[in-house]
Amino acid sequence: MDFDFSPEEQKFADEVEQWLVENHDPVVMDHHRENFTQLADTPERRDFMRKLADKGWLGMSWPKEYGGQEIEGVYEYILNEALSRHAAPQIGKGVGIIGKTLIRHGSEKLKKEFLPKILNAEVEFAVGYSEPNAGSDAANMQLKAEKVPSGWNLNGQKMWTTSAHFADWYWVGARTDPDKSKHDGLSLFLIPMDHPGLEIQSMPTIGKDTTNQVFFEDVFVPDEYLVGKRGSGFQYIAEALDLERFTMFTLSPIVNRTDLLVEYAKSATRDGIPVKEDRDTRRIIANIVTDTAVAKGLSTRFVCAAASGGKPPTIPSSQYKLFTTTLSQRVCNEALDITGMPGTIREGQEEAPLLGRFEGAYRATMNETVGGGGSEIQKNIIARRHLGLPKNF
Ligand SMILES: Cc1cc2nc3c(=O)[nH]c(=O)nc-3n(C[C@H](O)[C@H](O)[C@H](O)COP(=O)(O)OP(=O)(O)OC[C@H]3O[C@@H](n4cnc5c(N)ncnc54)[C@H](O)[C@@H]3O)c2cc1C
Repeated sequence: MDFDFSPEEQKFADEVEQWLVENHDPVVMDHHRENFTQLADTPERRDFMRKLADKGWLGMSWPKEYGGQEIEGVYEYILNEALSRHAAPQIGKGVGIIGKTLIRHGSEKLKKEFLPKILNAEVEFAVGYSEPNAGSDAANMQLKAEKVPSGWNLNGQKMWTTSAHFADWYWVGARTDPDKSKHDGLSLFLIPMDHPGLEIQSMPTIGKDTTNQVFFEDVFVPDEYLVGKRGSGFQYIAEALDLERFTMFTLSPIVNRTDLLVEYAKSATRDGIPVKEDRDTRRIIANIVTDTAVAKGLSTRFVCAAASGGKPPTIPSSQYKLFTTTLSQRVCNEALDITGMPGTIREGQEEAPLLGRFEGAYRATMNETVGGGGSEIQKNIIARRHLGLPKNF
C-alpha cells in the first residue's frame, strides 16, 4: 500500500498550504483552541468558511448533480487536515456529515434547501443525539415526537449539543414510534435553532469548548423537515456517526503536538541534565512518533479508501477514532510527565514550559475519547462487526 500522495494530490496539498499561508489570520486561526478550532462559531470564522466556498473547496467529493466535483475523498481529507494544521475552521458537520447523509437519504425538498447553503457556507448545524439517558446507547433516545396535523410536536431534552449556541439548524433524533423496538422507533428532523420552544443552556467543559443542554417545549416541526423515512432515524444516525468519527477528529493537532514535544525534548534540561539524554524520555518519544506515523497511514489510505464511493465506513472509522483519540491523550499525558511539575502550570503563564500548551491540550483532549461515541463503544464495534465476537463477550 502506498501511503504517499500521488503527484496530483500533492499539487492540491501544496495549493491549499500556500492559500492558507496567504490567508493567515490570527483572529480565525488559534492553536490554543486545540480541536475546537474546527467550529465556525464567530463572524470572522464564518467569513473564512465563505472564502473556502468561493474557492470551490467545499463538498469536493459530493456528486456533481448536488454541486460537488465527484473527486476522491482524499482531497477532502487533504483540505481538512491542512485547515486543522493551521488551526482554522474545518469542513465539519455541514459538508462532512449532514450534507452527505441528506444526499443519501433526504427528500428532494431538503436537498434543494440545504445542499446549496452548505456548499456556500451559509449554514451551521448542531447535532442532537445525546440525552440524559442516551449517550453510548443512542437508540435509547426519549425526546418525544408526537404526530399532529401536517407535522410533529416535540417535547423533552437533549444533552451535550455542541454548537447549539451559535448554529442555525438543529439535526435532531426523536422517538416517533414508542410502540416499536427502540432502534425502529426513531426518526431524524431538521429544526431552526431559533425555533420558539427551544431553550439552550450552556455547559462549559474541562477542555476549551462549551457544549449545551437543550430543552424542547411544544416545538412544532412540519412534515417536510422529517429526514428520510419515519422510523429509519437510527440507521441514518449510525451512518452519520461513522462520518463524524473521522471528519471531526483530525490528525494534524496530534502531529503538531508531537513535533512540539520533540523540539522541547531536544533543548530542555531537567535538574541540569539534557532531557534528550534520558533513556525513558527517548523511548516514550520514539513510541509516540511511531504511533503518529501509524495514525497517518490509517487516515490517509485506510479511512479515505473506505470512504470513497459515498458509503460511510463503519469499521475503519471506529479503528481510526479509537487509535487517534487515545494517542492524542497519550501525547499530552507523556508531555506532562516529561515537562515535570512545571508542565502542570496553567496555560498562558510565563513560568509554564511552552507557555502551558500541553496543560491546555491535556484538558482539551479529555473530551475526545467521549464525544462521537466513547472508546469502549469503538472497541465494541470492532469486536463485533470486524472480529465477529459475540455481543456479551
Ligand atoms: C465535549 C463533548 C461534546 C459532545 N457533543 C455532542 C453533540 O454535539 N451532540 C451529541 O448528540 N452528543 C454530544 N456529546 C455526547 C457524547 O456523544 C456522549 O457523551 C457519549 O456518547 C457518551 O455518552 P454518555 O456521556 O451518556 O456516557 P455513557 O453512555 O453513560 O457511558 C459512560 C461510560 O460507560 C461506557 N460504556 C457505555 N456503554 C458501554 C458498553 N455497552 N460497553 C462498554 N462500555 C460502555 C462508556 O464508554 C463510558 O466510558 C458530546 C460529549 C462531549 C464530552
